[in-house]
Amino acid sequence: MSERLSSPSLDAHELRRYHRHLILPEVGMAGQRRLKGARVLIVGAGGLGSPAALYLAAAGVGTLGLVDFDVVEVTNLQRQILHGSAAVGRPKLESAAARLADLNPHVAVIRHDTRLSRDNALELIGGYEVVLDGADNFATRYLVNDACALLGRAVVHGSIFRFEGQASVFDAARGPCYRCLYREPPPPGMVPTCAEGGVLGVLPGVIGTLQAIEAIKLVLGIGEPLIGRLVVFDALATRFRELTLRKDPDCPLCGTHPTVRELQDYDAWCGGPAATETMHEDVTVTELAAARARGDELVLLDVREPFELEIARLDGAVHVPMRLLPERLGELERTRPLVILCHHGNRSRVALEYLRGQGFTNLHNLKGGIDAWSLEVDPAVPRY
Ligand SMILES: [Zn+2]
Repeated sequence: MSERLSSPSLDAHELRRYHRHLILPEVGMAGQRRLKGARVLIVGAGGLGSPAALYLAAAGVGTLGLVDFDVVEVTNLQRQILHGSAAVGRPKLESAAARLADLNPHVAVIRHDTRLSRDNALELIGGYEVVLDGADNFATRYLVNDACALLGRAVVHGSIFRFEGQASVFDAARGPCYRCLYREPPPPGMVPTCAEGGVLGVLPGVIGTLQAIEAIKLVLGIGEPLIGRLVVFDALATRFRELTLRKDPDCPLCGTHPTVRELQDYDAWCGGPAATETMHEDVTVTELAAARARGDELVLLDVREPFELEIARLDGAVHVPMRLLPERLGELERTRPLVILCHHGNRSRVALEYLRGQGFTNLHNLKGGIDAWSLEVDPAVPRY
């Protein structure tokens, strides 16, 4: 009751704006004021974060924190509806804040232009009451889960891949956590990312919206939160399934004898982006082979001519002949690690310098090109 009294009041504009909430007995004036006083953190202003942030702002959550350090890429626009074409090349937080301010000027958007890490997660998350995880990688997912459990916060989980998505609420005080479900991340490289495997653009709209609903229910304390339940949505079949999740008494984080009492080095543990972040500009074929085997997130850009590809090629490489780079720049992501290859490593060096001049920031040159790959890594790739 004292919390309700301390919730901020609504002005005349807000009373009109939130009319359809105010007439819901489950929300009403007290609930709307509670929403206005709420602080929700959204990790990632991407596919899941986009619909979640839009709906939470529209609903009147008073303070929305957004964590993201990415720049809008043209490939994001197929699903990340916070951002428009004019924002390509600009920070996601910038376009997100502008869109949300236009949608609802009564919401304070706090931009955390940083990568969530073991060094900042506890302090950052500690400033919010509910966390919505819209991350697209295991390292961040475990980091958010662990930090929330250690801080006693609930995390609204969501994940998507191809045509399937899932959502749950992990609140270690009231039910299982993510580690009760998956104690450890899959071996690096075992699970392809959406960048590799694709994702239906509308799918994060369904899952991110479910996450927004759960966040609002948690703030208002209404309904049945998704605690102890995992909802799995199959877009091709248009079917929702529900799995019951139980708290694992042996969970290393929230079990009866926890071994995880502080945040870990998630990048090393999950085989996350750390390896490619520390990669030198010149990469040897053996380093590239190791990075690919680990499943490191990188894009291989082959700048050779089509006839050369007919002779020898590497699986998964994006092909843009050197001479067409200027007109096809929009197909490449500016911040993802890009390893450029050609026949012997000379054209790729020129391509790297060109891309650097175009504002690309994570560029690597494959020393010795595909010829070195044939000689040192895979003799099945023909030499020419
Ligand atoms: Zn657990």
